[in-house]
Parts: sequence; C-alpha cells; structure tokens
Amino acid sequence: MRVPRRGVARWAVWTLPVPVLAVILAVELLAVGTLATSVPRDIALLPHNWALVVAVLVAAGVLSTEASLGVERMRHRSDETPHIDLSSVWTFAAAALLPGAAASLVVLGIYGHLYTRVWRGGIPPHRAIYSTATVVLAVQAASAVTGLVERTSLFQSLPGLAAVVLALLAYAAVNMVLVVAVIVLSGPNRDLATFLHVLTRGDEAVLEFATLSMGALAAGAMGALGPAYAVLVLPPLIVLHRTVLVRQLEEAASVDGKTGLLNAAAWHVRAVRVLRRAERTGGRAGLLVLDLDHFKMVNDQYGHLVGDHVLAAVAAAVRAEVRDEDLVGRFGGEEFVVLLPSTDAEDGRVAAVAVAERIRRRVADIQVDVPDARGGVVVDNLTVSIGGASFPADGADLAQLLEVADAAMYAAKRAGRNTVRMGLHAVPSGAVRPVPPHHS
Ligand code: GH3
Ligand code: MG
Ligand code: MG
Repeated sequence: MRVPRRGVARWAVWTLPVPVLAVILAVELLAVGTLATSVPRDIALLPHNWALVVAVLVAAGVLSTEASLGVERMRHRSDETPHIDLSSVWTFAAAALLPGAAASLVVLGIYGHLYTRVWRGGIPPHRAIYSTATVVLAVQAASAVTGLVERTSLFQSLPGLAAVVLALLAYAAVNMVLVVAVIVLSGPNRDLATFLHVLTRGDEAVLEFATLSMGALAAGAMGALGPAYAVLVLPPLIVLHRTVLVRQLEEAASVDGKTGLLNAAAWHVRAVRVLRRAERTGGRAGLLVLDLDHFKMVNDQYGHLVGDHVLAAVAAAVRAEVRDEDLVGRFGGEEFVVLLPSTDAEDGRVAAVAVAERIRRRVADIQVDVPDARGGVVVDNLTVSIGGASFPADGADLAQLLEVADAAMYAAKRAGRNTVRMGLHAVPSGAVRPVPPHHS
C-alpha cells in the first residue's frame, strides 16, 4: 500500500528531475547568500529616504497587481510561456534607486503579495519561491551596476544613462536565463539550441524590455522629482496589462482545451494564410487528415473520460512528429489535421507521406496510463487512418485540398485502416505507395 506523504515530503518539487532540482536549489541558495551578504554592506549606502522609496514601490506594486488581478490570474494559468511579470516595473525601479539589500525588500514585498493574491493554489510553492529567488538575483545584479555611478547623478548624466541601460540588460539577462534554464531542463530536449529557441520565441522578451524601460522611467521620475511620481506610471502600466490580456485571450480562443492543439477555426485561418504564402512564393505544402480507427470502441470499453486522455496522447504524438512551424489542429471529435509548409527543395508529396507514416507508427506505439479507482488502465493498440493531399498538385486552395485529403482518408479506412493514402488518385486505387514501415 502507498503511504500518503505529508508536509514537505508531499511538495511537488521532489517530483522534478535531478538537474532541475539542482539548479533550483543552487539559485535559491545563491539568492539567500547574496541577500545576506548585501545587508551589512548596503546599510552604509542607504539613501536618507530609502524607507519611503521602499514603501512607495511596494505600495505601487500591490496597487498594480490589484488593478489587474484578472489579467495576472489568467497569465499564470498558462505555464507554457516563460512567465514574465509586469511587476518588474517596480522591482527594476527599486534596483535603480536603491542598494541591493533594500531593493530586495521591495521584491519580497511585491512577490509576497502576488503569491497570496494570485499564485496560491494555481502554481506550486516551489515555483513561487524560485521566481522570487530569480528576481532577487536580477535586482542584486542591476543594483550592483547602477551602484557603479553615484546614484544621485544617475538620471542627470550620460554615464548615468549608460549605467541604467546596462542595469536593464543585466536584470533581463539574469531573470530570463534562470527562468528559461529551468523550463528547458524540465523538458525533453536539454540542449543549447532549445534554450536559445525558448529564450527568443514569442513576445515575452519584448514585453520584458518594455516593462523594464517603464521601470527605468519610474525610477527617473521618482529620483529627480520625488517618490510620489510613481503614481504616474500606474495608468500606462494598466494599459500594458490589458494588451497582454488581449493577447492571452486570443491565444486561449484559438486552442482546443482537450488536446492543446489549434481548434478548427483557428487552424483554418492559419492554414489559409500559409497556403497563400506558398502560392506567392511558389512553395509547396502537404495536408494530412487523420481519423482514429474504431475510436468508439475505446469509449465503449473504458468510458469517455479515458477516451479524452487518449485524444490528448494522440495529439501529443502528432505534435512530436512534426516541426514547430507545422500547423496541427483538432478538426472534430477524433479527427486531426496537419498542414506541413515544406521548403521548395522538398517534394511536397514525398515529405507528407513520410510524416504521415511516422505519425501512423508513433500512434501505434502509444500507451496511455489512465489512473482509475482500481489502480489504472493502460490503453494501447491504437491505430489511425491518414489521408493526404499536396499543394499545388492536388488542389489550388484549402477547400479543395481538404476534400482530397478527406477522400484519401476514407480510402485508407476502406483499405483496412492503420494506413496512409495520398492524393487524388488514392480515391479509386490507393495510388501512392506508403513508405514501408520500420524504414526511417
Ligand atoms: P472508424 O473511424 O474507424 O470508422 O471508427 P470510429 O469508431 O472511430 O468511428 P467515427 O470516427 O465515426 O467515430 C467517432 C467516435 O469518436 C464517436 C465518439 O464516440 C468519439 N468521440 C468523438 N469526440 C470525442 C471526444 O471529444 N471525446 C471522446 N472520449 N470521444 C469522442
Ligand atoms: Mg471520426
Ligand atoms: Mg474514427
């Protein structure tokens, strides 16, 4: 019998792979160590109004979090993208205005509040602690840079401006590298290429720099005119939050909840765009339509909930066999579509058949462990029938290609299922010979 674990032993952190755990512990120890050693050193460097500056920045951070609670809750629900918090406006301002120890106080105040109001229940404590540790280190690094210049002249001279920009880069580098390192180490591909890809994908870096720039401006206004000027940063910050929300909602609206793939409507819009580009550039593309074989039997035997787990596993299998730029969508119940924009050098049809065969074999290897009251069931022996069409050979637009691929898929069903059929001629005779299995 499994003894239920309690307290610390139950923390999700212990389920992480060892390299991830090592990085997390090292970063947290480093943060605590840096903080501890900065206190005695920084006491002598505190500006006379440091307590007021800390209080104003924490209050501003709390206010902006409260003003955008919906946005923050939404952002933290998706853990796909490296999480970048707009509160770096205030933590970076702290790093510009204060020595590291006092700036870290601001971090602890803002992140403590963020945790109790936004994160608790949504993300495990170890992630909250790790995020806080990375921000403490980022603030310490940035503050060390701004400390190289007399803080009072920071916003009045060119060397001061250079120091602020350098501090901004240091902050972004420390924070993003540490966050992305853990994301990449937790994933299947732990190499430099994946690291650089995650680091530079999407708008996250742009958002981070926008936020840090606002932090620098906030610090400038507060330093030159007085701490109360922080209040002027709140309205633009709330607008920035809104634009992030719009983007998140757009993303959420285009994703199928059961599988994480694009939903039919979003897939369609993007597929049309890809084909138009191929048309303009004279490129080729392949289209695959997949339908699981006898899926009704899975539902009948194990129930719809298990069926849903299986659909998610199949979606992951398809995703794993295609490139990042390929469009994978869930078309209907247990039907999937894949659009493969291929390079000019490739023969669209051969490439599509090869991908379809890889997917077909991978689906056959799927084993889904589904926990249930009696210890769990394993679903396997899944198969899929795949029909394909290639652009421009089989059709001039998406509707024609879908028609051809769908007919080819039904030809694959008629040919006995667990097979691939390609193109117009697949309908009467099953023309294109699939790549033989076990040949890669
Ligand atoms: P075949 O395609 O090989 O002809 O047989 P099939 O049993 O897969 O037949 P078909 O594709 O027509 O049936 C689709 C079945 O998929 C019907 C339904 O039970 C199941 N299904 C559709 N959507 C979902 C879903 O969201 N969740 C679950 N669990 N099952 C679904
Ligand atoms: Mg179907
Ligand atoms: Mg089916």
